[in-house]
Amino acid sequence: MSTYGIDLGTTYSCIARLDSNGNPEVIRNNEDDSNTVASVVFFENENNVIVGQAAKENIETDGDRVVQFVKREIGKRDTRTYEFDGKTYTPVEISALILTRLKNLVESQGGTIEDVVITVPAYFGLEERSATKQAGELAGLHVLSLINEPTAAALSYCARQFQEDRTVLVYDLGGGTFDVTVLKMSMTQNNSGRDVQKITVLATDGDDRLGGKDWDDKLYNHILHACCDDNGLTPEEIEAETRQDIRSKVEESKRKLSKKQSAKVRIDVNGSRTEVVIKRTDFEQMTSDLVAKTMGYIDKTLDKVPAEAIDTVLLVGGSTYMPMIINAVEEKFPGKVQQHDPDQAVAKGAAIYASMLVEEVGSLTAQGDETSGGEVAQAEQLTSKFTVEDQTPRSFGPGVVDMNGAKHKYVLENFIKIGEKMPAVFTKTYYPLEDNQELVRLRAFENMSTDDTLIPCVDEDGNPQATDPAHNVKLLGELIVNLPPNTSRDTPIKVTFKVDASGVHVEAVNTKTNETFETFLRTESDIDVAGSAVHQLRISAD
Ligand code: ADP
Ligand code: MG
Repeated sequence: MSTYGIDLGTTYSCIARLDSNGNPEVIRNNEDDSNTVASVVFFENENNVIVGQAAKENIETDGDRVVQFVKREIGKRDTRTYEFDGKTYTPVEISALILTRLKNLVESQGGTIEDVVITVPAYFGLEERSATKQAGELAGLHVLSLINEPTAAALSYCARQFQEDRTVLVYDLGGGTFDVTVLKMSMTQNNSGRDVQKITVLATDGDDRLGGKDWDDKLYNHILHACCDDNGLTPEEIEAETRQDIRSKVEESKRKLSKKQSAKVRIDVNGSRTEVVIKRTDFEQMTSDLVAKTMGYIDKTLDKVPAEAIDTVLLVGGSTYMPMIINAVEEKFPGKVQQHDPDQAVAKGAAIYASMLVEEVGSLTAQGDETSGGEVAQAEQLTSKFTVEDQTPRSFGPGVVDMNGAKHKYVLENFIKIGEKMPAVFTKTYYPLEDNQELVRLRAFENMSTDDTLIPCVDEDGNPQATDPAHNVKLLGELIVNLPPNTSRDTPIKVTFKVDASGVHVEAVNTKTNETFETFLRTESDIDVAGSAVHQLRISAD
């Protein structure tokens, strides 16, 4: 089959498909002898760009030619770019290089890759999502859909254990991010009357600056100080080469400590060889504040969903290999914790979802020989058990003028609120601000608030106001609604927003002429805000 699931991670990425028995399997990265590919890009020279472990090894020596953590930049406003050898790269292009490496992995092992599902964090907004999709397309992939990482993880777990209604907490500790998500998995019937498992997100929280890297940093400092003590040096006296030597051995030592009670590292300290032994108990002690921090986020989430309601806790992300994590979570949720291949679960879930979508559109039909027919039948058996009901990642609505009160205010009316079931649709009628208005600049906004109205979240030019960063208001785009001559200010204009997994659809109907204007907002658009203070709609007829 040529359908794949991709976990495009902040620090490591992974690609999976369903095997001939319909079970998810990861495509191994033989070059790095790993199931994952480091999401690190090294621009060695004009002609050579390296992705993966070999790129990672250049962080210390050639840091200014290495790009990592690009997922933190993707789809962000005023995004940074990277320049190497006279060429400029956007975060989308860097991400495409990582995706291309995953694609090559499949092809180098004789596979073909066509349709893919790429995973994104549950908290990603519309722009981060479309930028991720764009990166996939740039890498020559056909992106069937995106799926939230915790949802994918849950899909991969229920491929092992098919259970009835459950509330699942996904604890995902990766290399640079921590996410906690509570999902409800319930039995429902699909259109053909078959029992299927439905997955919905109940709550999500986390920290995009907390992950395995913080454990690495603590270990680095510990080794550095041990080297100082052994050689009677101060940290300032440690040479740059020694620091690099320590840095390059930290992650490996951390991984060893997940398996063994102690790890030994040999460091060349300013020319003299020093052996440092790290005890797991010491490592656990020096990082206990980090573990506690993740527990704090769990507690915050449990304000929304009570602990008693949680049936299962899934440990996802490479950092959950650390026994200290397993123990801490087990202590909080005794007997409820599960962990299987935590660094692959997200990609495997995406592979299941990808097959499910292909089946839905009916292209998964038996073609060619007997074997492929059998393969299809089994894959169908697995995938037809699931349906995913995703929710809107943000709130969406138009900017309109509120005429109540002494001063007219430009406000954002939230049509569709964060967490609503997709596809979500909402319609409301507005009126032109003035008689003979020739057009309306109907603005669509995204935000993180669940309020009906945000005041004042945008200024009269439609720019999100800096005074309201908590709600993360973003202008997504603008629909120009042309009005015929002599339009009165009492003309009802019906505005509809529809949000689904692929984006936001905005429609405006002039109910006098029945003229319809519509636009599909997928990506950031350049909007000329000039003249916007007049060309608006107002909330109520007077
Ligand atoms: P991402 O951050 O991209 O989601 P992963 O979920 O694969 O990536 O997590 C990567 C993190 O997991 C890294 O910090 C890595 O060092 C850590 N990690 C991987 N395997 C182990 C292990 N056996 N023990 C401890 N940490 C590990
Ligand atoms: Mg991850």
